[in-house]
Amino acid sequence: MALIRERDSHRLHIKSILMGESLVSERFLDSLEVAPQRRLFPDVSVIKIGGQSICDRGKQALPGVCGEIAENKDAHKMLIMTGGGTRSRHIYAIGLELGMPTGIIAAFGSSVSKQNALLVATLLSDHGGIEIDQDAIMKLPNYFAQGGIPVTHGMPPYDFFAIPPEKGRIPIHRTDVGALLMADLIGAKSCIFVKDERGLYADDPKKDPQAAFIPKATVSELEAMALDDLIIERPCLDIIRHSQVIDSVQIVNGLERGNITRALAGEPVGTIITKD
Ligand code: ADP
Ligand code: MG
Repeated sequence: MALIRERDSHRLHIKSILMGESLVSERFLDSLEVAPQRRLFPDVSVIKIGGQSICDRGKQALPGVCGEIAENKDAHKMLIMTGGGTRSRHIYAIGLELGMPTGIIAAFGSSVSKQNALLVATLLSDHGGIEIDQDAIMKLPNYFAQGGIPVTHGMPPYDFFAIPPEKGRIPIHRTDVGALLMADLIGAKSCIFVKDERGLYADDPKKDPQAAFIPKATVSELEAMALDDLIIERPCLDIIRHSQVIDSVQIVNGLERGNITRALAGEPVGTIITKD
């Protein structure tokens, strides 16, 4: 790229299509042509293990989920990410009643989901489970080459910079968002949320057992339903909508053996949310 020196101020510019732009103009962004997003690791599936829904069930759920992940190790490259769950909610509640800002609450959430990453990596250690930092993500090929199953926490690293939400002070970008952002970053083969329900229902099935099951929906269809509660964090919908590399996510019940394997094979076993 050519260097240009301003005649009066002698300021140096580097000629590029972004030169002199605020990067905010809608008209400019509409006209900007960029290369299609490179898929860094298109053969890797991101599997998010729920905090409240799976990890907190301990012995009841984790050996089964980890066992199924281990069974799939030879057939699939998997990046495991973990939620926080009940301990996050506990410290969130204490922080909120003591007036903590969103950024502190988010940092609490990160440390709890790290505990679960250590827990899951330890349970998988016989099968190559290895706890990694999120910023080691560009080393994924190393871990797979060594027969490892990398495990990291799901909280996106906004921490003190967490965006104040529209309502209250609970960060809206938590571990579902982190897992989906990671899937987008690496251009993953699939993004699977392992939870404790079959998938998405018209309402929380724990509160309304009659709620209808929704096997498949587009982001816009889901928004039009205006459901009061969802099985994944709300910002996930916009991330799917805007992703250039992720077309869908699947939410599956990890308490039923076989679902993770089938989802890894691309079969519909839970709820699939797709781009419009
Ligand atoms: P995780 O531990 O994976 O983060 P959460 O507990 O945060 O999972 O979210 C999963 C829970 O969301 C389910 O166990 C279910 O009780 C609840 N839920 C709320 N709304 C819905 C819905 N519309 N459909 C299905 N589950 C829902
Ligand atoms: Mg959750």
